Amino acid sequence: MYDLMIRNARIVDGTGAPWYRADIAVEGGKIAAIGKLSGEARETVDAADHYLAPGFIDIHSHSDDSILACPAAESRILQGVTTEIAGNCGASAGPAPEGKKDGWPGMGAFLSAVEAAAPSVNLGMLVGHGAVRACAMGYGSEKPTPAQLQRMRALIAEAMEVGAFGISSGLIYPPSSYADTEELIEVAKAVAPYGGYYATHMRGEGRTVVKATEEAIRIAREARVPLQVSHHKVTYKPDWQVSCFTTTAMIERARREGLEVFCDQYPYRASATTLSVNIPEWAFDGGVPALLERLKNPELRARVRDEMEASHHGRWGDLFVSYVTTEENQWMAGRSIPEIAERMGEEPADALIDIVIAENDRVGEISFGMCEEDIEHIMSKPYVMTGSDGGAMPLDEPGKPHPRNYGTFVRVLAHYCRERKLFSLETAVHKMTGLPAARLRLSERGTIKKGMWADLVLFDFEALRDTPDFTNPQQACEGILKVYVNGVLTAENGRHTGARAGAVLRRACG
Ligand SMILES: [Zn+2]
Repeated sequence: MYDLMIRNARIVDGTGAPWYRADIAVEGGKIAAIGKLSGEARETVDAADHYLAPGFIDIHSHSDDSILACPAAESRILQGVTTEIAGNCGASAGPAPEGKKDGWPGMGAFLSAVEAAAPSVNLGMLVGHGAVRACAMGYGSEKPTPAQLQRMRALIAEAMEVGAFGISSGLIYPPSSYADTEELIEVAKAVAPYGGYYATHMRGEGRTVVKATEEAIRIAREARVPLQVSHHKVTYKPDWQVSCFTTTAMIERARREGLEVFCDQYPYRASATTLSVNIPEWAFDGGVPALLERLKNPELRARVRDEMEASHHGRWGDLFVSYVTTEENQWMAGRSIPEIAERMGEEPADALIDIVIAENDRVGEISFGMCEEDIEHIMSKPYVMTGSDGGAMPLDEPGKPHPRNYGTFVRVLAHYCRERKLFSLETAVHKMTGLPAARLRLSERGTIKKGMWADLVLFDFEALRDTPDFTNPQQACEGILKVYVNGVLTAENGRHTGARAGAVLRRACG
């Protein structure tokens, strides 16, 4: 007697192989049998010839804090995501320096907290270089001493011991951005004995994306670790349809030469991050309190403003505020910087500085900087997988969060696969299941096979629609019929069932 039987499904197994028709039986959270099955089950579902795929794996997530605030993870579950890897872009919830709000003393403490919160998705972690750097030496811009570097390496080893999958850097975000290439090689070496990988939000994704790719490849090569280029894109308009041909050629050459390089990508023309990313890096030396002090100093503020006016000339209109934390600034969410500046009676650079001060740096932006041709060029590469760069959010999340939080995976399937026909359905599913599982060395998830955990998504391919958009991001995707996490039904026809069957994933040792 099985727990669950899903009959008459077209199985897209996650390996990239053509679909086949079968029944699937689940017992104890795992796939117990596949084929023309005759046994009995406590529950039987007729798949009505729809596609059944492995649950989607979001290898680039920022659900660190949000998985505790929102363990039901509606934004993930309702698009078919059953596993996510957080701790990206140099920022991980643990370890955190003593006294940091929302921080955990170590990766182990954070993972235990996630386990106690019983999330609806499975969650694994990377350890953030910015996080360990802050622990070892604070938020200063100086080079680490040998002892500080040693401390960083020890903290990374500690995180790897309790199951982190690798290390991430965020080379536009202080303090991770203060590291030079040599420091990054040294910290990346610390994950090599564990079989971990180096994921990087590279030092530049605009004018300097080619140089940044060169640096990323050098770091991985010299540290002897696999490389994951995070959310690969080109955000500098004059280099559209040029730079990404160079970066992908570099990656392909590195792969031919034996370096294991993969990329992830989210399928939108706009990126999303903190608004203060537009402020020059020197102003962050010493951390956020020091930044806010500088912005309040008339002389330093003028320098910040002048530098931003030069760097942002002609592209203020691409920037939108996505969320603010104060009540009086709620009107800004979803509006462009020029629109907000006009209402404030200021120039855009001054308005941006005043918003960052008023919100204590807790303000988000959405920035339109990519072109469709580049997105499709990158996406069509076999070593590029899907990753949202988003996180766990409820359907009533305030503000205008980036729709990637809610719609990334269905957008790849519905728009790029079904409508644009960039690749087959089997390839699209592979990019969000078997491929990230291979990168993560997950041996029990990411494909449909007997003995694998029953993370499953049943969907109506023709009905799939990435309804979440920039105007109304907080929505369930259409066409996702059922989502199972570890064999437990967690979403049905766009509704979360309330189930919280996710597990904490730890890198297999050895
Ligand atoms: Zn990033």
